[in-house]
Amino acid sequence: MALTRFAAELRAEGRDVLALSAGEPDFGSPLPAAEAGIAAIRRGDTRYTAVDGLPALRKAIAEKLERENGVAYDADEITVSSGSKILLLTALMALLDRDDEVLVPAPFWVSYPEMIRYADGVTRLIATKPENGFRILPQDLDAAIGPRTKLLILNNPNNPTGAIYTHADLAALGEVLARHPRVAVLTDEIYEHLNFDGVVPGNLVASAPYLRDRTILVNGLSKSYGLTGWRLGFAAAPKPIIAVINALNSQGVSSPSAIAQYAALAALSDSQDFRDRNRREYEARRDLVVAAITGTPGLDLVAPQSAFYAYVDCSGWIGRIAPSGQRMETDEDVARELLGSEGLAIVPGAPFGLSPYFRLSFCVDRATLADGLKRLHRFATRVTND
Ligand code: PLP
Repeated sequence: MALTRFAAELRAEGRDVLALSAGEPDFGSPLPAAEAGIAAIRRGDTRYTAVDGLPALRKAIAEKLERENGVAYDADEITVSSGSKILLLTALMALLDRDDEVLVPAPFWVSYPEMIRYADGVTRLIATKPENGFRILPQDLDAAIGPRTKLLILNNPNNPTGAIYTHADLAALGEVLARHPRVAVLTDEIYEHLNFDGVVPGNLVASAPYLRDRTILVNGLSKSYGLTGWRLGFAAAPKPIIAVINALNSQGVSSPSAIAQYAALAALSDSQDFRDRNRREYEARRDLVVAAITGTPGLDLVAPQSAFYAYVDCSGWIGRIAPSGQRMETDEDVARELLGSEGLAIVPGAPFGLSPYFRLSFCVDRATLADGLKRLHRFATRVTND
């Protein structure tokens, strides 16, 4: 928040501020989806729907899960709501009793600990290491599970690192979970389809079918389909869990937007060329980022396998002097100095649970990205020892 305010002040002074901090695709909504939304308005299909969404959409989601993820869910084991975020929150509210522990691999999406707190739970972090590609290993999971552990959140692919758990990774984690029958799993798969190098994110239930009755899968159309503002997410889980989520949603968001549901139906039914074209574009930008960061003194990174973020190790700048003359002690200092000296906005690593790092997002066109990477390099050449 402080950095956003600082960026706004610089802009107001007429400074050229370049933001590599966004968390949403820069491509617009796919045309068939947008047109289906407009057609719904013209037809007058603009009324409340069932709390769990249109039956036709739940059926299309069941088909998608079968076709792309190899898991079978009935339409009444699926619910649709206004974005995946509210489904993650209501799933936590449905599952947690006061002081239940939730395991969250770090680095993590900033909302998880806040949502867990909202649902009266307690976050317990599991540290990951760059040398393991920021993935938890089966022994890390085993060691973290305690008597109060109720749930594991698995964000696959991960924001902010882009780490992917493959089918084999999940099968190995599944073996650990098989020994702990009281631990449920919430999988957040919102960055599915934005995967690179042919590395495919696995699905926990497909890899470990015996976990089906305690797994809640959450996904949505925001990132893979560029439908962020339409607000459309979905969850699949055994009926008793879906029923509680629906009961909570019925007193909160109620039904998701009818218009967005028709758009989502079209997006899921359309040829997936749009999705694949964007995936390739992000992969090309990822390559630009990896090459530039690797050549920037003081910075290092593990090449992201997916999504549109690079989680950059800036430990080489810590304790050193920024061009402003200030010593940089934390990644928040790094973020402030980059903004002040170069007008470059990135997100410091501290809120993601691993420092000193920063998250650089590449949801900007290649020319803007190249400009941002040039600013980063120029800053690096001006960092001194004293
Ligand atoms: N999960 C993760 C890991 C995210 O990064 C985000 C958005 O930034 C979401 C969920 C929320 O997406 P939605 O637009 O579906 O609410």
